[in-house]
Amino acid sequence: MFIMKTTEKVKNKKMKTEWDLGKLFYKNGNDPKIELDLAEIVSLCEQFEKKYRNETAYLENEEALYAALQECEALTKKIASSKPVLYFSYRLALNTADKEAEGKAAKYGDILIKAHTKTIFFDLSLGKIQKEDQEKFLKSERLSDYRYLLKKIFENAKYDLTEPEEKILNFKSVTSRGMWIDGVEKLQNKQTVHWEGKNIPLSEARELVAILPTKKRRTLHRLIMEKLRDAVSDFAESEINAVYTDKKIGDELRGFKEPYSATILGYENDEKSILNLVSAVTDAFPVSQKFYTIKARLLKEKALTYADRGADVGKTKAKFPIENGITLVTKIFEDAGPQYKEIFERMLANGQTDFFPKQNKRSGAFCSGEIESPTLVLLNYTDSLRSVETLAHEMGHAVHTEMSKKQRPIYQNYSTAVAETASTFFEGLVFEEVFKTLSDKEKIVALHDKIQGDIASIFRQVACFNFELELHKKIREEGFVQKEDIAKLLNKHMSAYLGKTVKMEDVDGYFFTSWSHIRNFFYVYSYAYGQLISRALCEEYKKDHTFIEKITEFLSAGGSASPEDIFKRCGITTDKEFFKKGIQNIARDIDELDKLSKK
Ligand SMILES: [Zn+2]
Repeated sequence: MFIMKTTEKVKNKKMKTEWDLGKLFYKNGNDPKIELDLAEIVSLCEQFEKKYRNETAYLENEEALYAALQECEALTKKIASSKPVLYFSYRLALNTADKEAEGKAAKYGDILIKAHTKTIFFDLSLGKIQKEDQEKFLKSERLSDYRYLLKKIFENAKYDLTEPEEKILNFKSVTSRGMWIDGVEKLQNKQTVHWEGKNIPLSEARELVAILPTKKRRTLHRLIMEKLRDAVSDFAESEINAVYTDKKIGDELRGFKEPYSATILGYENDEKSILNLVSAVTDAFPVSQKFYTIKARLLKEKALTYADRGADVGKTKAKFPIENGITLVTKIFEDAGPQYKEIFERMLANGQTDFFPKQNKRSGAFCSGEIESPTLVLLNYTDSLRSVETLAHEMGHAVHTEMSKKQRPIYQNYSTAVAETASTFFEGLVFEEVFKTLSDKEKIVALHDKIQGDIASIFRQVACFNFELELHKKIREEGFVQKEDIAKLLNKHMSAYLGKTVKMEDVDGYFFTSWSHIRNFFYVYSYAYGQLISRALCEEYKKDHTFIEKITEFLSAGGSASPEDIFKRCGITTDKEFFKKGIQNIARDIDELDKLSKK
């Protein structure tokens, strides 16, 4: 009833359901402003290089350094916003068949990378400032606005190489990494499996697996895995060994101790805090194992296979037309406070959200924002519960991005590690709101789906982290690891979080050929980190709504300090106990599912 009444209100409000790129960016692809904007960025990079390439005063003198940093910041603002490239890549997201956009996004992207390369000498030179001067600059009041930036540059400098070496590594990364990964992907995309009288592509087969009944699901899953083993794994074996060895060479040249060190430094995290996270989750694998025993019961099976990992246990009938979805999400942001609601409404009124599926539109959902550029959200909204959760998730990203704009330009981008915090926080709140209204039978399905998602982003990603680490170490020690052994290793680590209920077969391990995450070294921990922190924040918020002030402080901090320091400011210490609190929150959900499913 309540929902119906407010629906009327939403309908009357001004709202655009499609991106208004003409108003937010350029009139069209031939808008003369595009070339002008591009020329301005290129010329600013050239001027900057000309001015500072042979200059040394800023490396010794506080006042000169302040002026140079200000100019660098103005330049960063221009480069980051790079509106011409953003405009065409957004057009491409709306229509993947837009050839003009595809061509121009690539062409302008290339021009901007070349222009940007002209300025990399600046950070490298700052890194070479004498130790005593570094300390002096870090204490300087005049430079206090740039303190965290300088601290990062000075700390990262010990891993810098010379400018020509950096350039070589940059250019070589295409042949030593990119083309290998592309090659495996291409080979994989060409594969088909024979299913019910037809040859269907692997991607289509994978989507089918989740919705098929058990017997068929397992047969099709096996066909996919066998195809990966027989047609892709020889090439993938060489590829993974090459890409991991290239990473080893880079780490050795730069002096990184552990395979994960570069990623953690890049995300501005503290190594101890991330190792705490990994060990807290690994210790809690029995929590995810329990989920799979409940899942087996829901599927009426004694044991599960790897094919059943993402299988549906039912469907929720409740439908959420867009008006209802917006009403639900509005309520969450309204409860959080007026500035949250204001950002959400602005995202709707200004044509910054593209709601519905369209032919050739990119699938899935994302939020994208840059310094000095409008934040955009893309959705493929249907009337499902999942759509409402996704709306809250992406708007969480949008709120975080918009609030970070309170910072000065160089600090507006937040670390990848905290990216999934705000999104999963609001997603969790809207889920609880909807959950209350469901029937008992629907509650089982909805809760199962939610936990399955949580386990995929926390336990599975940490198991993947453990797998990656062991594989990196093995390749570093042995020089080359055979595909059979990579597959075995993957099975070992997947079994660790899935537990005894899920019986793995040898062929399942060949999933390594197609898992893109393992090629983005240790990136997976950012999912677990963001998600667990958001769970812990949620606990506090539910106990005491005034905790939103701390959350607002975190969301407004952008990248002005390391994630650990930002959380500390909000009274949160990211130690092992803290991560355990987040895990307990999920364990409670699993207990509830257990109870509901026994009713
Ligand atoms: Zn997200």
